[in-house]
Amino acid sequence: MTQGAPGSAEGPKKLTILGSTGSIGCSTLDLVKRNPDDYRVVALTAGRRVQELAAQAKEVGAALAVIADESLYGELKEALSGSGIEAAAGGAAVDDAAARPADMVMAAIVGAAGLPPTLAAIRQGTTILLANKETLVCAGDFMSAELSAHGATLLPVDSEHNAIFQVLEDSQPDAIEKIILTASGGPLRTRELHEMRDVTPAQAIAHPNWDMGAKISVDSATMMNKGLELIEAHYLFNMPSEQIDILVHPQSVIHSMVAYVDGSVLAQLGSPDMRTPIAYSLAWPKRMKAPVERLDFAKVRELTFEDPDPKRFPALRLTRTALEDGGSAPTILNAANEIAVDAFLNERIRFTEIAETVEETLQSIDPQQLDSLDAVFETDRLAREVSADVVARFESGGAAKKVGVG
Ligand code: NDP
Repeated sequence: MTQGAPGSAEGPKKLTILGSTGSIGCSTLDLVKRNPDDYRVVALTAGRRVQELAAQAKEVGAALAVIADESLYGELKEALSGSGIEAAAGGAAVDDAAARPADMVMAAIVGAAGLPPTLAAIRQGTTILLANKETLVCAGDFMSAELSAHGATLLPVDSEHNAIFQVLEDSQPDAIEKIILTASGGPLRTRELHEMRDVTPAQAIAHPNWDMGAKISVDSATMMNKGLELIEAHYLFNMPSEQIDILVHPQSVIHSMVAYVDGSVLAQLGSPDMRTPIAYSLAWPKRMKAPVERLDFAKVRELTFEDPDPKRFPALRLTRTALEDGGSAPTILNAANEIAVDAFLNERIRFTEIAETVEETLQSIDPQQLDSLDAVFETDRLAREVSADVVARFESGGAAKKVGVG
């Protein structure tokens, strides 16, 4: 999904960061601050962390700071007073920020909430550095169409997809046999099935290798994250489900691989630090220095691999089926997962009920072809409503209607 290098003119590249207060947003700003001559920040947006947003905007001299929660506008305005930085609030203002002319827009909002601003960025025909995988999962066909229509470029930031992007010889699509997405297996990789039900939010977000936001950390624990990445890979690299494998690799050193028809397998390796793929996408088609720990193979000593266990991680089956069913299924799956993860983090449902909520929501809504973006938004809304009902039933002690776990 690439067209050409961003910001071909000399001078600093103009950059907007959607979701600047999050894990990816902060790592992006870390690289920007280390290279102040190379980037000029147009806009920063955040959800609710208003003081962090204001501090970031002042530190990098952003032109605009936007907080999505409208009730925080006064606080943002006050925090920025005297700085000359424009303040705005609300969902429409986030979209406007994404539409402001920039050479690159980092899409790092979590969840489908990132879809409208990411579309706004695509429509200005710029380069999108895509971390926000949920946007592709819930609206992949429409994002692809908008990218082509507006001549925009999409660079994958997700470490697996960034790895594939680095080793994919897309000039010869017929030479690609398959993509192998590696997975750490998350914090529950070795847990027994009967122990899964009682996993707490603190245990689920304690990822062994990566330091990430809460939602993606839970997705890693359920392995829904790998399933979402399967769908993401399908859209980014135009690969059918049967040509995308998932392989558990607990050390997170190999970030993914591409296997070719001549038997060659190309892989990208590195320490598990998101600043490497972020740096790759910020500097593309060049490379920039990143302050990450260098791989010391003697210390790593061994790289191990195992097949994922679909019994303990039913999200893998749900996502592959959703991808293969197509139509509204990935949109429903994504929305239900967002509702279920939020409920789990708020201790309203059990760990295993995340996948059960997703499965029941998928079974409750008739699948359909989505013929417009409005249909995507309507499906997302409906799936949230249905999954909220499922969550409410679990919360009041009800059982799953059709249990997909185990
Ligand atoms: P975080 O939860 O750390 O950050 C999310 C960001 O989105 C925050 O800036 C948050 O603002 C903002 N936000 C949340 N809700 C809204 C909303 N409704 N409207 C506008 N902004 C909102 O997430 P991560 O940085 O971990 O992940 C971001 C995306 O990148 C996700 O899609 C994730 O799957 C993907 N990703 C993350 C990786 C990682 O290592 N973290 C790796 C690969 C992909 P605030 O906090 O101020 O409320």
